[in-house]
Amino acid sequence: MKRIVVLGGGESGAGAAVLAKTKGFDVFLSDCGIIPQKSVEKLRKYKISYEEKHHSEDLILNADEVIKSPGIREDAPVVKALKAKGIHIISEIEFAGRYDTAKKICITGSNGKTTTTSLIYYMLKKEGLNVGLAGNIGKSYAYQVATEHFDYYVIELSSFELDGIYDFRADIAVIMNITPDHLDRYEFKMENYVNSKFRITRNLQSDDYFVFCSDDPVTSEKLRKIVLKAKMLPFTQKETVERGACIKDNNMYVNVDGNEFSMYLKDLALEGKHNLYNSMAAAIAAKAVNITNENIRKSLMTFEGVEHRMEKILKIKDVLYINDSKATNVNSSWYALDSMKTQVIWIAGGKDKGNDYEPLYELVRQKVKVLICLGLHNEKLHECFGDKVSVIKDALTAKQAADLAYSYAVPGDTVLLSPACASFDLFKNYEDRGEQFKDAVRKL
Ligand code: ADP
Repeated sequence: MKRIVVLGGGESGAGAAVLAKTKGFDVFLSDCGIIPQKSVEKLRKYKISYEEKHHSEDLILNADEVIKSPGIREDAPVVKALKAKGIHIISEIEFAGRYDTAKKICITGSNGKTTTTSLIYYMLKKEGLNVGLAGNIGKSYAYQVATEHFDYYVIELSSFELDGIYDFRADIAVIMNITPDHLDRYEFKMENYVNSKFRITRNLQSDDYFVFCSDDPVTSEKLRKIVLKAKMLPFTQKETVERGACIKDNNMYVNVDGNEFSMYLKDLALEGKHNLYNSMAAAIAAKAVNITNENIRKSLMTFEGVEHRMEKILKIKDVLYINDSKATNVNSSWYALDSMKTQVIWIAGGKDKGNDYEPLYELVRQKVKVLICLGLHNEKLHECFGDKVSVIKDALTAKQAADLAYSYAVPGDTVLLSPACASFDLFKNYEDRGEQFKDAVRKL
């Protein structure tokens, strides 16, 4: 019997183990940390052997194939040992794709993945299709392939998940944009990160679709060097295109295989330039699976966005408080600041991933009157922005940040939490940061 070893016991690993077990493999799961209770329950239910808090090489290096969770780095000792033995390492997505005949719409990019994935899923649901939501978002893809049957999947893919795909084929592949992120996992080489994102286009056939942002310089540069078989569908806010999506006379205009859709920009529920890109990409994908114009329009008019992404919390004394805790890199905070139409009290900071803040300088000069640094080490923010805003303050808790913001805000201002940094120095994760901030704002 073929032996499959799964590394990592989170949502993705446990799901992969369950699928492997139901397909009759000899399965073993190993995690060097503590396995979450939810996963343990799945492993027990399916009688899958596992270990936690260490990796036993004798139980791992005898695998025929290994499914590695996206959180485990390529340079982890156990991964190096597997590579030295020439054992094939794949991702959960690659493995599950072998057993799934559904039509797959796959979304990657540096920013906008979750929003666009959720929006496409919302549209397919509205159309009444039998569709699953998987990948980086929600439930494991493999677990759903093992336990449910869907005709369609909308799958959010991170670069780490894409690194482990080989034969996996999307029917519709979407790259939202590519800006520097996670470079620590890519030997600090942008090229490696770009290549990783482009793995989503592997195996695209001539009937498949590739949806991409032609305004994105990195994506466009890469596309000059490669040839894809798929039908190319760009989305752009800067030029007009025959196929794909663009803006014409204050309308979003979409054309896929000669089928057209258009909608007045003011009717879109999601606001801001970045969200217009997300709406365009989603509308193209929806057209490519023949969703009716009526349902596309209704969806784009009613989709409320995803929590922690430019989420309006409430207005106090005519000051709007926004939670954009998911902005964990400079690019996403750029879009947040760019979309501001008032003076801003900006709450930023956290764990810096080697950020270059320069793209934000001009926007900060124009719009930010107070910067509140919410992080353990705020020196870099002081250094970069000290001469661009008149007031800079430090906070160590979400409550302190909210209190400070409140004390400086005057009617008409916006208080924006859009950190441009990861959250791990002071919070469990970005959700925790966003929740604590919302809670603090509601108590002001
Ligand atoms: P991801 O899943 O790729 O992290 P999200 O949809 O969760 O993307 O959004 C992450 C952050 O990026 C949020 O702060 C959001 O406001 C911002 N954002 C959303 N879409 C885009 C986009 N197309 N370009 C740039 N930033 C975006």
